[in-house]
Amino acid sequence: MPAKQRVLVTGAGGFIGHHLVKRLKNEGLWVRGVDIKQPEYESSSADEFELLDLRKFDNCLVATRGGIAQVYNLAADMGGIGYITASHADISRNNILINAHMLEGSRLNAVSRFLFSSSACVYAQYKQREAEVTPLREGDAYPADPEPGYGWEKLFTEELCHYYWQDYRFQTRIVRFHNVYGPLGIYEGGKEKAPAAISRKVALAWDGGDIDIWGDGEQTRSFMYVDDCVEGLLRLMASNYHDPLNLGTDRLISINGLVDLISEIAGKQLGKRHDLSKPQGVRGRNSDNSRLRETLGWEPSISLEEGLTITYRWIENELRRAGRTTTFPTARAAD
Ligand code: NAD
Repeated sequence: MPAKQRVLVTGAGGFIGHHLVKRLKNEGLWVRGVDIKQPEYESSSADEFELLDLRKFDNCLVATRGGIAQVYNLAADMGGIGYITASHADISRNNILINAHMLEGSRLNAVSRFLFSSSACVYAQYKQREAEVTPLREGDAYPADPEPGYGWEKLFTEELCHYYWQDYRFQTRIVRFHNVYGPLGIYEGGKEKAPAAISRKVALAWDGGDIDIWGDGEQTRSFMYVDDCVEGLLRLMASNYHDPLNLGTDRLISINGLVDLISEIAGKQLGKRHDLSKPQGVRGRNSDNSRLRETLGWEPSISLEEGLTITYRWIENELRRAGRTTTFPTARAAD
């Protein structure tokens, strides 16, 4: 029997990395997971899980040792808009170190394919000033004006991947994620993103009460369920495509719309208190999936209603198990 292909997932203690490890195991691969922390909500199904700080080059050599064929490099210092706008220096330095060292460690250890997880934060901010934004094509990252810190670092690492291909013929894949959500992701503490934060607020609110929303809520985004994200990652890795590729849905929704959807799933009627002092990022952002469809012959298809129902129920259940949701009858429920 041929030896199983060996795959490394960095950031395997994080949200997407944890889901990816599960999927790769289901595909019958041998998987090493690496992170600076274990996954929070369930144990990893990786064959080996190593705690390593990938900002250090020697640790990147350790992580990529032993005949690893493919690397999914998902490790990054990141969080929601509040987190990534609060510390540009730390985030940029940490991620530059992780990515530069992981690329070189992978090359020296003769890895055959390396996937870098970039972000829609690379897109030029001046193209995202309207809520009814034109969906972003891959070329819209230039002339460059990405999100400060996190976006610049992602854009530069995309270039670095390209240089590794040019100079060493080192096989790189570059994915630009647009807002990924799902269960088993962080939902409080400052690193959570909008769908998880809103789900938590809705789950903790009284029916008929109010929740806080960052900004006026008219800012728009598109959201992709994590199973679609993982499917796209496997397809991109298997493809021969070297240039950056969007991976997201192209259904635009406002944050107010997202709140309404999650409230409906929860069966609650909630008012919105808009906090204009909080960061809200660009005004509008959507993915143009033309190149994704052409390249992979596929695009994400799990609906927001379906994905958010699973995500909301998981977060609500976590909060209930921790004794944090209330079971008091509401005025309407008592009618
Ligand atoms: P996450 O924060 O859940 O996972 C990232 C993991 O990297 C964390 O577990 C963290 O501990 C680990 N990490 C951080 N510093 C490390 C270090 N020095 N050494 C080793 N591990 C380290 O984030 P995620 O949502 O799973 O994102 C995965 C990747 O996708 C990241 O590169 C992120 O920038 C990118 N991305 C995610 C989204 C999204 O919506 N989730 C959007 C765009 C891009």
